[in-house]
Amino acid sequence: MKSSNPKGITQVLKENNLRIKKKFGQNFLIDDNVLDKIIDAAQITKEDFVVEIGPGLGSLTERLLQQSKSVLAYEIDTDLTPILTKAFPEKHFHLIEADILKRDIDEDIEAIDPHVESVTVVANLPYYITTPILMKCLESSKKIKRIVVMMQYEVAKRITASTHTKDYNALSIAVQYRAKTTFAFKVPKSVFIPAPNVDSAVITLDYHTKYHDQVISEPYFFKFIKAAFAQRRKTLLNNLFAYLAIDKEEVIKVLNTLDVDPQCRAETVTLERFINMANTFYKRNI
Ligand code: SAM
Repeated sequence: MKSSNPKGITQVLKENNLRIKKKFGQNFLIDDNVLDKIIDAAQITKEDFVVEIGPGLGSLTERLLQQSKSVLAYEIDTDLTPILTKAFPEKHFHLIEADILKRDIDEDIEAIDPHVESVTVVANLPYYITTPILMKCLESSKKIKRIVVMMQYEVAKRITASTHTKDYNALSIAVQYRAKTTFAFKVPKSVFIPAPNVDSAVITLDYHTKYHDQVISEPYFFKFIKAAFAQRRKTLLNNLFAYLAIDKEEVIKVLNTLDVDPQCRAETVTLERFINMANTFYKRNI
């Protein structure tokens, strides 16, 4: 199937009496060069088990099947099933017609191959649920070790942002707490059918556990970060006071003992410092 060119996509849709479904975030990639660059960034080998989220008409799937040992693809749009199963009769293609957010990914992988311990996710994500999908992959799977995904450019910049930049926010920390993030490359709107309203980018996430045993309470840590960034223009002191309901004097005292300026803004605080701060406030509150 040559669905990675505009003619191919229109033809496949027409032949199957289908329309592009906006509600599922369907923006199909039509540029072979970009598809090749995603495969390069993924660095997969014939030994690898790959999970693809949203194969669509299969342009990325085709390349993933050539490069890997197995591909497990989740597709919510069941109208695409006949196209995908016809295009990929290969034994190492496994299609689950479902909403990825409702599946237990590790259980699905285990049902295909119980020996697989390390999985790479490669996808051109549906943009309406980019963050929930990423957080699911990072939080609920023990097997996913690397994620290479296309998403909106603005979100990609936030996820990979460093301190002291305008993009650094609670999402940067939530993701960087679990993975080393790298901005791979920007992708223009023009390489999709239909063209989305915004540019896109590919990022890579390499899962790590280095911070996990440093955080005393993960729920509190995430609540703390959300509070710290609640209003960007406010100081750290004012955000913590307003959104965690901790007495102002108490916040100042604790921040001073940690050598953190209460008047600074959250975007200047590193992940390591946030862990330290959240742990200290957590211990004082229990
Ligand atoms: N991979 C194809 C490509 O690059 O041309 C399609 C990418 S398109 C941006 C996103 C795909 O994700 C669509 O095929 C859509 O139907 C599918 N999708 C949307 N929501 C989904 C969900 N919750 N679970 C699984 N697939 C989903």
